[in-house]
Amino acid sequence: MKQEERRSRESKVGSRRVLVIEDEATITEFLRIGLSYEGFEVVSASEGWSGLRLATEEDFNLVILDLMLPDLDGFAICKRLREGGSEIPIIMLTARKEIPDRVAGLTMGADDYVTKPFSFEELLARIQAVLRRKGGGEEAEAIVSSGIAVNPDTHEAYRGKERIDLTRTEFAMLELMMSHPKRVFTRETLLNRIWGFDYPGDTNVVDVHISHLRRKLDAVGVEARRVIRTVYGMGYTFRPKDPESPARDEAVE
Ligand code: CA
Repeated sequence: MKQEERRSRESKVGSRRVLVIEDEATITEFLRIGLSYEGFEVVSASEGWSGLRLATEEDFNLVILDLMLPDLDGFAICKRLREGGSEIPIIMLTARKEIPDRVAGLTMGADDYVTKPFSFEELLARIQAVLRRKGGGEEAEAIVSSGIAVNPDTHEAYRGKERIDLTRTEFAMLELMMSHPKRVFTRETLLNRIWGFDYPGDTNVVDVHISHLRRKLDAVGVEARRVIRTVYGMGYTFRPKDPESPARDEAVE
């Protein structure tokens, strides 16, 4: 297979490089899109041996390693890397039925594991945690904007000293949009990022959760429609509060 070393076109000089060793093309593509969006350079391999070769010959900041691969499996790759002295952070992808293997995966030297199906935000949180741990252990900085603070480590949101009680989904949406202020997220993007690549539902679920999130922000005195704006015909965007600009928000609910 010649396309196994296909490189991300969005690769940037000096950006963090991630090696994805995964034989399911849809998952590789899902990871490539999400990680490139987050500024990572993505290199992928669809077979175990070629992945191991890349991992040993090139420099990466992280390896995302599928457990079940057609030739050399994830355990064997992990074991060989560690025996070869590599300390590269490794996150293992496992299917739900393979969960009992997780202990083996971790003792084989992986740093963490994510169970399929997973959402991109869940994986990204693990990636950031592993990179922080391996990179000196400093804590994530809270994102603060428009009187709202979200802490990616504790998954807590505050308005001043008041805690905003958000569900996991609401928190993930708020954190994602606050991390990329003014960027417009389509419903499809939010669905993909928050619910996962194989979520069977339709995009109305996004509107429902945005509506719940706005209500909770309103309840603590944030004018939610001015910060989480509806972009007509496109989706939603987080706009840091600017007292000069009036809210131009089209109702969809
Ligand atoms: Ca697989």
